[in-house]
This record gives sequence, C-alpha cells and structure tokens, in this order.
Amino acid sequence: MDQALLTVAYLIAGVFFILSLGGLSSQETARKGNLYGIIGMLIAVVAMATGGEVTSFGPLVGAILLAAVIGATLAARVAMTAMPELVAILHSFVGLAAVLVGFAAYVGDHGSHAGALFNVEIFIDIWIGSLTFTGSVIAFGKLRGSIKSKPLLLPGRHLVNLAMLIGSIVLCVMVAKASPADGLQPLLIAAGIAAVLGVHLVMAIGGADMPVVVSMLNSYSGWTASAAGFMLGNDLLIVTGALVGSSGLILSIIMCRAMNRSIVSVIFGGFGAAPVAKPSGDADAGEAGEIQETNAAQVAGELLAAKKVVITPGYGLAVARAQHTVHEISKTLRAAGVEVTFAIHPVAGRLPGHMNVLLAEANVPYDIVFEMDEINGDFPDTDVVLVIGANDIVNPGAETDESSPIYGMPVLKVWDSKRVVMCKRSRAVGYAGVDNPLFTHPATHMFFGDAGATMGELLQALKS
Ligand code: NDP
Repeated sequence: MDQALLTVAYLIAGVFFILSLGGLSSQETARKGNLYGIIGMLIAVVAMATGGEVTSFGPLVGAILLAAVIGATLAARVAMTAMPELVAILHSFVGLAAVLVGFAAYVGDHGSHAGALFNVEIFIDIWIGSLTFTGSVIAFGKLRGSIKSKPLLLPGRHLVNLAMLIGSIVLCVMVAKASPADGLQPLLIAAGIAAVLGVHLVMAIGGADMPVVVSMLNSYSGWTASAAGFMLGNDLLIVTGALVGSSGLILSIIMCRAMNRSIVSVIFGGFGAAPVAKPSGDADAGEAGEIQETNAAQVAGELLAAKKVVITPGYGLAVARAQHTVHEISKTLRAAGVEVTFAIHPVAGRLPGHMNVLLAEANVPYDIVFEMDEINGDFPDTDVVLVIGANDIVNPGAETDESSPIYGMPVLKVWDSKRVVMCKRSRAVGYAGVDNPLFTHPATHMFFGDAGATMGELLQALKS
C-alpha cells in the first residue's frame, strides 16, 4: 500500500472512531457506535499490516489471533458485576504496551528519528504508560475488593508526589540530551518513579471517588497511546489516543461535577480530602439502631395502593441479576395503573452507565428512566421508593454528616418520599464503607434478602 492510500485509510478509520464515540453517547445508538468502532479498528489493523512496515506476518497474525481468542473468551465469560475490573485491567495492558513499545523504540534502530524531541516523546510515552499500568492494577484490586477501598493517606503525600514529579522532569532533561546508551538508565529510573506514583495516587483515592479514577486512567491510556503515535510517527495512533484521552477527561470532569468533587483532588489523590472524623469501627456492621422490617406481601400492598412509585437500582441489582424481574414488577404495577419511573444516580453500580446498561438489557423503556437531577425534585410527591441493592447513592449522610467521606456528593433524596423500601441482604455498608442513616429513618422499611429472591417474591405477591 503506498503512503497516500495509507493516509486515506487512517483518515477513514479516524472518522469511524469519531462516529463510534458519537454513537456511544446515547443508549439508542450505542450498538451502532460499537459497530463503527469495530469497522474503524479493522481498517486500521489491515492498513497498518499492509502499509509496508511489517516485514514478517507470522508473529503479527499469531499475536492477533491469540489476543482475539483470550479477549473474546474473557468478554463472553465476564459477569456484568466484574466489568469494571475488566476495564481497569485492560487499561493496565495499554499502559504496559506503551512502556514496552517505548523501550523497544529507544533501544532499537532510531533511524531518521534520533534526537532530543524523539527522546522526549519516548520519555512521555513510557512515563504515562508506567503510571497508567500500576495505577490501573491498583484500581483493579480496589474494584475487585482485594485492596481495601479506604484511601491510603500517607503523611506529606503531596510533597512526596511533588518530589517524584520534579525528579521525573530532571530525568526527562537527562534523557533528552543523552545518547541511547547513556539515556537508558535514567529512562528506567523514570519508569520506576512513574510506577510508584501510579500506585500512590490511586491508593490515596477513597471508595466513592473510584469512578472518576477509572475514567481518568482511561484518559491516561489515551494520552499514552497518543505519545506512542508521535514516537512511531503514526498519525492514526495520535488521533485515536487524543480521542480516548480527551473523551476520558471530559467524562471525568462530568463525573466530578455530578459528585461535587474537584478534578484536581482526584488527580492528585485525596488532595484536601476531609479526614474521616467518625471511624465506624467494624465497617461491616453497618448502622446500629431501630430498624423496621417488612415483607413481600406488605410491600406489594403498599405498591398497589400507591399512585407514584420510583425504583432506584444500585450495585446489588447487578449482583443479583434481578433486572428482568424488576422490569416485570414495573410492568405489573403500570398495568395496575401505578405510575412507575426509574431513578439513576451517575455513579450507581461500579461503572459509568452501569444501571442504564442493566435496564436496557431488561428492555425497560428509556422514557421512564430518569437521571438524578431530573428526578430529585419528584420525591416529595412519591408514595413509595423501591431502593434495590443501592446504598451510598441514597445515603442522607452525604448531605448532613461533614465527617463522612462522601459528604458533599449529591445523592438521590429518596427519604423525601412517603415510604422507602430498601431491598438488600443485611445492614452492611456500601462501597464507600460508610454507615447509612436511611436504614433507621422513620419512612424506611427494610426488605432483607438477596434481590433475586426478594424481587421474585414481590412479583409473586403482586400477581396474586
Ligand atoms: P453500594 O456499593 O453503595 O451498595 C450496594 C449495596 O447492594 C450494598 O450495601 C449491598 O448490601 C447490596 N447488595 C449487594 N449484593 C446484593 C444482592 N445480591 N441483593 C441485594 N442487595 C445486594 O452501591 P451503590 O450503587 O449505591 O453506589 C455505588 C458505589 O460504588 C458508590 O460509592 C460509587 O462511588 C462506587 N463506585 C462506582 C463506580 C461507577 O463508575 N459507578 C466505580 C467504582 C466505585 P448487602 O450486602 O447488605 O446486601
């Protein structure tokens, strides 16, 4: 393929990636967006392989086939609840790949690229790649639960971060000026510093801020790919990396606004985070106090007597895979003349848009699904709110308890309604690890049990 044709192919692939992002921005067009992304990537891979730079196809085809089989198997097997972990670990692969490609380019044949600019491109690629790699591995551990979600706030952590940043800039200058033989050592040290920084930054992020970290790591993986594009002289990689980097950054900013957090504090790891003045002791024990229990028959009676019902799903709905039963419940109630809507919090679940995906999978009509800002004013007129497997996103402490790590995060004000029915298995805390005073609120009835089972019982009770 000659250079002009290659450029056109890369341009077309770039357009498909932009169309893909546009498609993914709404649920109705998301499938099309996915398809555009696949077409763009196919064009990119074929153009790259036939562009003249690949001299041996065996290893390339072998690597693509092996990766495709592993990727397809993982994607087919992954549970919806494990999706965020998968995304985090995939980001780590992008980071690791950037580091490896960077070192390969540095120790390999520099050809016409050699010079200070090329060295700086390599340095940026390796530095961001290394930070993305270790940060994503820590995010993976936190989302999986193998690392505690509590922030690790070391004394003087901002000074430590600053020292690592200044050290990295000094090393960058050294690498820029050095010959390939002399620059390898500072480059390795910089990769090590970035790796430690990645661990430190993400360890300092508390549970409720993790969604922003995941989207920031997504953004970093884009910038590292873009830096690799400059290094390899590949325009498509520059454009695609910039698209991923900027869209990840925009998503992070949107999520920060939704959670009333500053993007700077999330990037620098708990910068200015209020100390948790009220440790909850045994975090798993949850809120102590008088709670009122309910059962399927009682909830069914209240729901059928209601004029307006709001269903608020959270992470537990995904764990219990109860979305289809919940949709059946909503259909049964609507058939009985009850107005039913769904309220979605921007960070419900463990992935941006997690609840929207679950509800779309169960074919819940889009026009009865509302975002937090659209529905928060409706709760005083609501007869019953069914909170299914949600906890942090309906915690009134976010408004009232200044010592809480989630203080200031906007939440769904379900307690303004006449009755709150909380469906969960126990009094345990949610992801952020904080007690929820809603359990003992006078309007709340706790409907204990796995949401799969309790929603099944509720549907039966409604039908009988
Ligand atoms: P939470 O984690 O706050 O609460 C979920 C609740 O579901 C738990 O308290 C649990 O209680 C209950 N639960 C778990 N399994 C079941 C089950 N099988 N049946 C019934 N209930 C169940 O989730 P929310 O959605 O309310 O809030 C999301 C949290 O996750 C926020 O803190 C957010 O910041 C964070 N987060 C969000 C991300 C995102 O992008 N959306 C990414 C990373 C973190 P019990 O054990 O008693 O059943």
